[in-house]
Amino acid sequence: MQHLFSRHLICPICKKGEVLADGKAKVTISVMCPKCKSFFLADLDTMQTEKTTAQKRLGRMK
Ligand SMILES: [Zn+2]
Repeated sequence: MQHLFSRHLICPICKKGEVLADGKAKVTISVMCPKCKSFFLADLDTMQTEKTTAQKRLGRMK
């Protein structure tokens, strides 16, 4: 019985990099493309990928 939730996400920026995402939660994750080192968002529920323009830096308060 295989209940693997590994999904292949293709980088929306270079369309060459592939990221393997584990998880079955309906969440959006931020991953880095191994090819072009760009960050993009991946919705594990809909399997849609989205470019991110800027990285959100949490923990920096001004
Ligand atoms: Zn890429």
